[in-house]
Amino acid sequence: ASTRRGLTVDVAETRWEDIGGLAQIKETLRRAVQWPLERAHTMQRLGIRPSRGVLLHGPPGCSKTTLARVIATQTRASFFSVNGAALYSAFVGDSEKTLRAVFRQARASAPAVVFLDEIESMVGKRLKESVGDSVQERILSTILNEMDGVDGAMDGVLVVGATNRIDMVDDALLRPGRFDRIVYVPPPDLLARREILAIQVKRMALCSDVDLDLLAQRTERFSGADLANLAREAAMLALRQDICAEEVSMADFDKALLVVQASLKEDVMQFYE
Ligand code: ATP
Repeated sequence: ASTRRGLTVDVAETRWEDIGGLAQIKETLRRAVQWPLERAHTMQRLGIRPSRGVLLHGPPGCSKTTLARVIATQTRASFFSVNGAALYSAFVGDSEKTLRAVFRQARASAPAVVFLDEIESMVGKRLKESVGDSVQERILSTILNEMDGVDGAMDGVLVVGATNRIDMVDDALLRPGRFDRIVYVPPPDLLARREILAIQVKRMALCSDVDLDLLAQRTERFSGADLANLAREAAMLALRQDICAEEVSMADFDKALLVVQASLKEDVMQFYE
């Protein structure tokens, strides 16, 4: 991976099976993204205007970034990732230049996925009283120009946006032909937590007393990222106690549960429920 002013190009393989839960969302995305990327020419012949963008929104740590990566690797598309906060802090004028360069590169290497992470920090809602030429407005119009494209130039390029706060995203981005598919990525329920835990411990030597069903029950309001942290913490505890630790035990998970906190508390979830 290379990082330059908020732009990352990454080719690490990620698969649908690496994401626990979200069965229906995975299916919706598979249909929404595989066709425009893999059948761009057929769709054009049939006069179907492919979706330019998919916006993933929902609470933090619930696999929006991972979904975008899977979309790219599973369609063999190149993956370009731009982080909103990093982009916004770039030198004046550089943000738009970087964005245009990303889209140019993406078009040249189509099929491609352009991932715009933390999109609300790039293009928050415009304040009524704001006039003229703020950085945010220039970034917004750059994205709109690139997404609107000309004469199907965007074919084979899918824009995937992600945000924790869709209420703060400018409405102009949500119009048809732009992010016309909006997908809510919810926090994991009991079954999803069980699946995520199973994925996270797959490469760990586990003691037979580790009860993933019980852990799933005890991790209400944990995000996928919290569950990944929990598994990592349990393994670290096993390592710390015993220099020749062979397995991670339920006792390690019990101790890890005292350290790793659920991040999807009410104050966070108020934006989604
Ligand atoms: P943020 O909004 O904070 O950027 P995000 O929604 O983009 O978060 P990811 O970055 O995809 O979330 O998730 C963080 C990590 O949590 C992943 O690298 C993965 O290890 C784990 N994770 C999250 N959700 C899942 C899931 N459904 N299945 C497996 N692992 C998950």
